[in-house]
Order: sequence, then C-alpha cells, then structure tokens
Amino acid sequence: MDERKMARIDLAVPFGQKDEAKALGAKWDPVLNVWYAPEDVDLIPLLRWLPDSDTVELEHAPEYQVRAPYYYIIESTSDCWKCSTWTRVYTFMLPEGHEKFELVDDDEEFSLERNLGEWIRHDHRGTAGTVHSLSPSVAAQVRRYTANLKQAFSKTAGHRYIMNHCEHCGTKLGDFYMHSEPGGAFFPTSPQQASKMTLIKINERFDANCGVGFVTDDFFDCMQRDKTRSV
Ligand SMILES: [Zn+2]
Repeated sequence: MDERKMARIDLAVPFGQKDEAKALGAKWDPVLNVWYAPEDVDLIPLLRWLPDSDTVELEHAPEYQVRAPYYYIIESTSDCWKCSTWTRVYTFMLPEGHEKFELVDDDEEFSLERNLGEWIRHDHRGTAGTVHSLSPSVAAQVRRYTANLKQAFSKTAGHRYIMNHCEHCGTKLGDFYMHSEPGGAFFPTSPQQASKMTLIKINERFDANCGVGFVTDDFFDCMQRDKTRSV
C-alpha cells in the first residue's frame, strides 16, 4: 500500500463547527473520528482548522487532550507495502469512560481564541489513531515492545504523527490503511482476525494527543490477552 495515493489533510474541527466545515467541503472519517480535507477540495476556506493552529496551542488547554485511567497496548501484524513482509505493529485501545478535552463552540466566536473547552466522557471503547504526542509514561511503556512506533511525516495526512515502521525495512506504515480499511491490522472484521491481535493491559493513566476511533463491533472479546506482559 503506497500511502501517497491517498492524499488528504486531517483537520481539527470542534464539534460545534462541523456543519460549517462540511459545507466547505470537509469530509468525516468515522473510524479515526476526524474531519479531513479531501484531495480535490479548495483548502483556503479550511485553513483555520489546520492542525498547526491546533488546540495544542491554547493557553489554558491541558497538555494532553485524551485521557483514560488505564489502557491496552494492541499488538497486531500488517504486511509491509514496501518489502511485502509481515511486521508487528502497535497502537492503543482505550476503555469505556475515556475522556477527550473538546472545545465548546460558543455563539459565533471562533472558540480557539476563547480558550473554552471541557472534558467529555465517552462510554465506548476506542482505538487511538493519528497520535501526535504521548505522555512520557505511555511512551516508556510502548518502548518496552517496539522502537518502531515513532514520529514521521505523513504525506497522506499532511503532517507529522507517531506511526508504525516496518521492523524489517524501516518503511513508514501510515495509520490510514491499518485503522480505516476493513481488515486492516487494527480494524478486525471477524472473530478469527481479532484472535490474531494481542492486548497488553497497562494499569497506568493514558495521556496523549490523538484521535480515538470506534466501531460498533470491535471483536474485543476475541482478542488475545497477554497477562504475562501486563503491568
Ligand atoms: Zn518492510
């Protein structure tokens, strides 16, 4: 899978501005839970939602805008589009009750300038995608399993995020294929496929800046549990 064929730019659109963004040509990715500018759209009207002018720069916003009391590291496998070898790949599963800091869109004012936001609780499990940053303790946990989950520039997304790299040839393996394509490494479509994924429970706080995607049936109960590696 060559990620250059799927150029798109992820946007940071507050919930209250979604209709406006949609009217200007933004599309919604229900799996990664993110609005994006498709290849063929006029980018100028969407510039205000580019992640560079992102919520991270808000004066009073928390440093990490996604949190959970505990989490799982997901270990799965994906075929490398470059060397065609299977490689281990990793992401995070967040439990029910994880929270996201979301901007409150008040009146007509652009909320990024108003520093208004609140923690919203989500009563479903979710898979972390488009991870921009991890707290030092989460980063330390994932380092126990792989050195191949690291910052890289994505031509698909148009910005840097923490992505998997092939453990054999070092090629970048972007999130899109593994998270958003049914049957991708983190998008099981059958109990059998889910049974090839392993969950390592980490009884520590999760703090990160990332998207959280979810599907109605994630086959969570079919995934393997690695209790020996849990902490
Ligand atoms: Zn490879």
